[in-house]
Amino acid sequence: MSPRYQPRRLEAKWQEIWQARRLYEAREDPSRPKYYVLEMFPYPSGRIHMGHVRNYTIGDVVARYKRMRGFNVLHPMGWDAFGLPAENAALARGLHPAKWTSENIAYMRGQLQALGYSYDWPRELATCDPEYYRWEQLVFIQMYQRGLAYKRLAPVNWCPKCATVLANEQVENGRCWRCDSPVHLKELDQWFFKITAYAEELLADLDQLNHWPERVATMQRNWIGKSQGAEIQFPLEDGGEPIKVFTTRADTLFGATFMSLAPEHPLALELARGGAQEAEVRAFVDYWSAQNRSRGALEEITKEGVATGRYCLNPVTGWKMPIYVANFVLMGYGTGAVMAVPAHDQRDFEFAQKYRLPIRVVVEPQPTKNTKNTKNEKQPVAGLTAAYEEDGVLVNSGDFSGLASARAREAIADYLEAQGLGKPAVHFRLRDWLISRQRYWGAPIPIIYCEKCGMVPVPAAELPVVLPLDVRITGEGGSPLAQLPDFYEVSCPNCGGPARREVDTMDTFVESSWYFLRYACPDYREGILDKARVGYWLPVDQYIGGIEHAVLHLLYARFFTKVLRDLGLVQIDEPFQRLLTQGMVLKDGAKMAKSKGNVVDPEYLIEEYGTDTTRLFLLFAAPPERDLEWSDQGVAGCHRFLHRLWNLVNSLLPELQQVAAYAGDGRGLSPDLQEFRHKVHRTIKKVTDDIEDSFHFNTAIAAVMELVNTFYLAAENLPRNTAAPEVFREAVEAIILLLNPMVPHLAEELWQALGRQTSLQLCCWPEAQAEALEECAFTLVVQVNGKVRSRLVAPVTATAAEIQEMALADPAIQKWLQGQAPRRVVPVQDKQNRTVLINIVT
Ligand SMILES: [Zn+2]
Ligand SMILES: [Zn+2]
Repeated sequence: MSPRYQPRRLEAKWQEIWQARRLYEAREDPSRPKYYVLEMFPYPSGRIHMGHVRNYTIGDVVARYKRMRGFNVLHPMGWDAFGLPAENAALARGLHPAKWTSENIAYMRGQLQALGYSYDWPRELATCDPEYYRWEQLVFIQMYQRGLAYKRLAPVNWCPKCATVLANEQVENGRCWRCDSPVHLKELDQWFFKITAYAEELLADLDQLNHWPERVATMQRNWIGKSQGAEIQFPLEDGGEPIKVFTTRADTLFGATFMSLAPEHPLALELARGGAQEAEVRAFVDYWSAQNRSRGALEEITKEGVATGRYCLNPVTGWKMPIYVANFVLMGYGTGAVMAVPAHDQRDFEFAQKYRLPIRVVVEPQPTKNTKNTKNEKQPVAGLTAAYEEDGVLVNSGDFSGLASARAREAIADYLEAQGLGKPAVHFRLRDWLISRQRYWGAPIPIIYCEKCGMVPVPAAELPVVLPLDVRITGEGGSPLAQLPDFYEVSCPNCGGPARREVDTMDTFVESSWYFLRYACPDYREGILDKARVGYWLPVDQYIGGIEHAVLHLLYARFFTKVLRDLGLVQIDEPFQRLLTQGMVLKDGAKMAKSKGNVVDPEYLIEEYGTDTTRLFLLFAAPPERDLEWSDQGVAGCHRFLHRLWNLVNSLLPELQQVAAYAGDGRGLSPDLQEFRHKVHRTIKKVTDDIEDSFHFNTAIAAVMELVNTFYLAAENLPRNTAAPEVFREAVEAIILLLNPMVPHLAEELWQALGRQTSLQLCCWPEAQAEALEECAFTLVVQVNGKVRSRLVAPVTATAAEIQEMALADPAIQKWLQGQAPRRVVPVQDKQNRTVLINIVT
């Protein structure tokens, strides 16, 4: 009687043994190649969901596979533990965010351990630990001293529901990334990180990231948004500072007929002041400053504006251009002022039609041979129904008429520069990273405001600025820290006079921008990072996480790495060598979500089927980068497969325990065994290739399943000549080794059942044998009078005569012949002239 497959029991057993043996704790070892695999760490929201399980299972398979390939593998886990949900939970349940967070961490850690992930637990870190964020505060101070962290008054995104500001990256289509509320612009004095100082490098280094999904690189490229153009000055009609404009279309300058300012542009109110338009402009500015005018929302709104009553001059035509304040111009992009060219920009075109402003065509499509450019000053503007936005040939543009757009852009920029009216310029869409948050559950910003000395960073020796825990969280009246005199009333580190501590905390994306570095030395007390250990482990060889972080975490982490490099703390330019963005877990066609009622709790699955089945299903159902559709039948199928494997190995155990695995090159084995070995080694090669090339675990698993099916037939049918048990043992060992990264508990149990003493986790990945990969046998079909009566395995080396002899000697055929000699034997050959079918005519 073979033992029953009891996944829960054996999984708990092995998890305990692995932990006791500390198998997954990594040590620096320069004699071995290192491999750092990392999954994006979770926010401790309470429970692990299926998306997490998929993410971490992929990472765990990679970690186990690389260990088996001889790499010194680092595979840590930790907690992105600051953030708003902890405060919301505190409000809803009266639990302190710290308690809520640490309880969640404890629960989720248990869940991860039950999933059998091979994490290096002693390296675990939580970002809300003062021992973590003290180093972040030190980085902040060093950035402040280099001008990379600065405070300024600026219109910023404000989420009324979260009651805090947001970075541009955290606003999606005008809405808060977390709660989906419409975001407003608000003028506030805030802390920024100068990510724009790295714009050029962040863009250029994307070209090095050959193993990132192209989609992510493209999203970052677009977000950074480099454009080459010209900065042009438009003098005011009655003197004063000219208005500066950035444009990528200097070739249309002769067609600029009015000027549009963003409502937040400092000139908007200043120009209108004292004029007839003042009240109207003020009302317009007040109204639109409070509206959702982020980039996404702009597409939706009706273009509107109001004249300031003032004029500027087109620097090349000298025309008077009315200055408008327009709702579709953003302060955050370019200079907040736009030269309006209605003939060649659709938004300007619609605006000009609405307010009856002149439209002047200055670019025409490339003329074909027959339609000669007449340089006619009168253009059919009346018939114009839309702006012509393409490049073409300049008309109505003075000396520049006749030039192609591209040439004209350079020529006009050069001309402006010579005249002192402008210059060629590069602009980025990327803005500085707004990092202050008016929230409690975050890392305090280590700055003190002194009446005499101004802003003073907290001295390094006094770090960390510990987030006080004895606060009342009411959700009202701004940050609880601002209501805590014990926290904010301090004396100035410089002059000792009365001073006030900053009460804003840092965006939690700051913590996740460098946690992967700290994993290399989580116990380091001498400074931010231990250079030697970070130098050994970094960069991360394989990073795995969701695509939703493309222009958030993945951009910030790249920026932070470059900053830390320039601070002399790391020697790498890029943190993540390879990136895999795994697909979502769907059920009934939609992402699993509580609100949709289609959630499957991983805990239930583990209870019902065990961890190995859960892992196997998530790996088998789809390639990792694609979305995965949940299927109860799929889970049951994976469970059945593990049962089949369990039963197969156990039924063969008495035979297998007697022998060692076959270690020969296949010569001298029967054709059946040769063919069987051929299948085993082809499977080894396929699984290795599928994992190595693309992490396509689904096809790798399918190949092993196919091998197990073949094995069942072989185990039933093959005669047990001397070598069969050895060949079977070779096959069983290969299957266990190949499946170990995916279903480590079952694999380890079977390994032990074979009588192996050392842990499977310390074993080597199997190698496909060259001899066994060569096709050694083929199937010969034998017919009697045109009907198939037998199939035989014949060696590829057999001659035609030997094949005929085999066919006639087959017991099944002899039965049909009943002792009579055949009248004729007709061989049929395949393309390689090999006899694959024999028809015996009686
Ligand atoms: Zn929000
Ligand atoms: Zn002072």
